[in-house]
Amino acid sequence: MNTPLLTVVVPCYNEEEVLQETMKQLLMLLETLVNEDLIHEDSKLLFVDDGSKDKTWSIIFKASIYHEKIKGLKLSRNVGHQNALLAGLSTAKRFADCVVSIDADLQDDIYVIRDFIEKFHEGYDVVYGVRDNRESDTLFKRSTAQAFYKLMRKMGVDIVYNHADFRLMSRRALDELERFNEVNIFLRGIIPLIGFKSTSVLYKRKERMAGESKYPLRKMLSFAFDGITSFSTKPIRFVLLLGSLSFFASVCFGLYFLFLKYFGTTVSGWTSLITSIWLIGGLQLIAIGLVGEYIGKIYKETKGRPKYSIDIDLLNLPLSNHLLSIGDDEGDFASLNLANHRIK
Ligand code: UDP
Ligand code: MG
Repeated sequence: MNTPLLTVVVPCYNEEEVLQETMKQLLMLLETLVNEDLIHEDSKLLFVDDGSKDKTWSIIFKASIYHEKIKGLKLSRNVGHQNALLAGLSTAKRFADCVVSIDADLQDDIYVIRDFIEKFHEGYDVVYGVRDNRESDTLFKRSTAQAFYKLMRKMGVDIVYNHADFRLMSRRALDELERFNEVNIFLRGIIPLIGFKSTSVLYKRKERMAGESKYPLRKMLSFAFDGITSFSTKPIRFVLLLGSLSFFASVCFGLYFLFLKYFGTTVSGWTSLITSIWLIGGLQLIAIGLVGEYIGKIYKETKGRPKYSIDIDLLNLPLSNHLLSIGDDEGDFASLNLANHRIK
């Protein structure tokens, strides 16, 4: 079998603190894999700048000049981790047999990529990196994440437990992924739907090397909510069930009140009236809110807006055009020069 061309896709949002170390480590890994004859020597790293506000892009850009294995993609604005990843995957697919996605903070064990490649050689189209525990997480992140996976399962969404977006996909799987046209993108839910041969590799997740998590509680909650409402109609069933139950309860209450009217003492009834008004009002609001959530999604889907716009694509442009736009005061790029990869 020919050695496959690998591209590692790294979405980056305000990652100036870790980026150079990440580049160094990933380049070293590529070298090793090439030397071991596991991947093709033209394998590459593709860094996607997701509209960062710091020096992330200038670091990527300059590194791409110093090292031919480093490529960059700059998105015009911040579109979020999932969309940035998708932009990277679709771009990488053009020149790779398999693509590995990994976060810029190197919390995931990069040496597991070797196992990914071995599995790819064995004929797997998708290889999931699965964390064997969550010791490196805060108690809060651990418990919320676990609750999230459980809830997703209950809602009937097929996702791989403790798998973030660290995985290998073959070009064939990526071609299929592209056929999912939805705008509310939740890759972890979509990829199992592709259905090609897949497997998992266990690894230990470390703490962030530097910088802060780009997933504050607000983003985590919206990620979880999007994940559920993009894939499951169970919440709407739940509302239906709730509605049926409250209807049944109100019939029972009606009979009870009739019984009281004819066989007992009639009370003024203000309490029951006012509580039922509040109860029914609340239920209706919940129902309308949930239905609205789905309508909102239909609305977005029907608009069919592009999921991202690429501002600069270093793969398609002569470098000299953009040299002018970047100063040369940041970064130690000489250290990236591991072998004879300086651009000729
Ligand atoms: N990220 C991104 N766009 C965003 C937020 C995050 O591309 O809007 C990237 C970020 O640079 C990192 C990855 O997504 O490479 C995961 O983010 P982070 O490590 O902050 O998440 P956590 O590990 O805390 O869940
Ligand atoms: Mg992280």
